[in-house]
Amino acid sequence: MSSERYENGPAAHDQAPPDGGRGRLVIRGGAVMSMDPAVGDFEDADVLVEGDRIVAVGPGLDAPDADVIDARGRVVMPGFVDTHHHQFETAERAFLPNGLLSDDGSGSPSARPNYSEHILGRFAPAYRPQDVYVNVLFAGLSQLDAGVTTVLDVSQIHHSPEHTDAAAQALVDTGRRAAFGLFEGAGRTGSRYPEDAYRVRERWFPSDDQLVTMVMGGELHLGRQVYSRSWEIARELGVRIAAHAVGTWGASRQIFDDVARGEGGVRVGPDNIFIHMTGMSDETWRRFWDAGARVSVAFPIEMIMRHGIPPVLKLQELGMEPSLSSDVETTMAADPFTLMRSALTMQRMVVNQMVLDQGGPVPPGNYPKPAEGTPELLTVRDVLRYATVNGARDLGLDDRTGTLTPGKQADIVILDATALNVAPLNNVPGAVVSLMDRGNVETVLVAGKIRKRRGRLLDVDLDRLRHDLEASRDHLFTAAGVRRDLFA
Ligand SMILES: [Zn+2]
Repeated sequence: MSSERYENGPAAHDQAPPDGGRGRLVIRGGAVMSMDPAVGDFEDADVLVEGDRIVAVGPGLDAPDADVIDARGRVVMPGFVDTHHHQFETAERAFLPNGLLSDDGSGSPSARPNYSEHILGRFAPAYRPQDVYVNVLFAGLSQLDAGVTTVLDVSQIHHSPEHTDAAAQALVDTGRRAAFGLFEGAGRTGSRYPEDAYRVRERWFPSDDQLVTMVMGGELHLGRQVYSRSWEIARELGVRIAAHAVGTWGASRQIFDDVARGEGGVRVGPDNIFIHMTGMSDETWRRFWDAGARVSVAFPIEMIMRHGIPPVLKLQELGMEPSLSSDVETTMAADPFTLMRSALTMQRMVVNQMVLDQGGPVPPGNYPKPAEGTPELLTVRDVLRYATVNGARDLGLDDRTGTLTPGKQADIVILDATALNVAPLNNVPGAVVSLMDRGNVETVLVAGKIRKRRGRLLDVDLDRLRHDLEASRDHLFTAAGVRRDLFA
């Protein structure tokens, strides 16, 4: 067994169609963290893949005819899931490193430029279909490279059906699992949201077994007439409904309270995914929890852009668990390590201070014992669950991804634990959450197809794509009337 075997062996598996094939592949000798309690973890085990599926996980699997990936010194785990990413905004990466969600009148560099006015107000309307395509594709490849094998692309760029088709095509061309979130566009004449959902479902997502499936955007701030129609269409089409829920923004909190109480003309159910949930009333939380709704938390973005404190303690209080989301690369990186570490450090900062505030150190220097009812500190295991299986659950994809479970699709990442920033390996979940970054993502499989190997994405011309993205960026800055200042 050696990695040479794979290099010299048939490359046929690389050409296997995304819907599977007859290839057999065994990932040998890794520290396997399945994220499925029924499967468990193994210090040294193999994962056997046939076509697009995982068929076995365990030590010393017998697979003489399979191609081999040598995973000794590596962590083998399910690919990460991001339940809220605006992929069309890649051209404006780091344009708003300090920017708030909207102008607070302070005149500070955080107030201007800001997200509402500049990204949504100026850049978004300037997108052409070709801009949508390259921006979405580049963001998707970047996340694939970072080990994110499944995403909900919260796509808000549907100025025309051509824009919509460009976004869907880019998700398909990325070759990773995705839920295409059909949100509104700029509301111009050609925009057909939400009625275009029927066409999109039929043209792009006729089956729910595809690598790319559909989610409907159902924003409450668009007004009752629009959201009640979009929710109705979603349920008719049998797709989930996603909506931003920022109680600190405009009149949102009141609208959410009305909807939660059943007075908004729509019914909240287990097919709803609410994004952020900052600044919401206790009653709305309880009603959403009772209805089985799901919550996606964008820890870094909520902290930096003033959405409010990520509602992790409220989730814990109710016994709920969120999935994680990256949101916008205008302001923060979209890799899963940033998301997991932000969640962990934020929650522990709050709870640690809570405990410290409960009393002075007890001689001979111990901490006060946490009072009854003090929230449990999050652990690295918790945030790993948020970033994998919870994401799959929230998108309704947990029958096919989120864990290394025989029968599920082979969405797998292999992480290098021999690297300078990780070795020696002493604790697998700790190494992944506390030490690793995207540079440790060595190999990525989506539905059994190898998309990244030995640290390089396969089947992409990144130089050409970067050139296209820069051309798109130049168009967008010019059309938006924004001067690009590299040191602003
Ligand atoms: Zn968002």
